[in-house]
Amino acid sequence: MPNLCPCGSGQTYTDCCEPIISGKRNAETALQLMRSRYTAFSKANVDYLLRSHASQTRPVKDRKNIERWAKSVVWMGLSIISTESGEANDETGYVEFKATFLEKGKPDQIHERSLFHRENGKWVYVSGMHF
Ligand SMILES: [Zn+2]
Repeated sequence: MPNLCPCGSGQTYTDCCEPIISGKRNAETALQLMRSRYTAFSKANVDYLLRSHASQTRPVKDRKNIERWAKSVVWMGLSIISTESGEANDETGYVEFKATFLEKGKPDQIHERSLFHRENGKWVYVSGMHF
């Protein structure tokens, strides 16, 4: 059984989000960065979540809360609804997604349109609009 990536790409973790999260390789697109952040949430990797966050909006003070919440829920899956820009030659991009999870045994989801931009050449998460 290959170790499939939590982001649901169908690729193995070591071919998909792992090299991005570990810093071996940069996300080429906003979508890759978005997927890596979902995977980091599912692993409660708050270091990576903060590192992949735009410095202007980085929620440094929320580190503990983010970690506690990410660990408290059971991540069920990610579905990408649409993307806009965010390609290898773009400076900004949007990804709309749904992430489903169980919180205290109850199914819930995040439906968000996220904005990404490049900071020092690397894709980072800026902010999101919830539906
Ligand atoms: Zn992945």
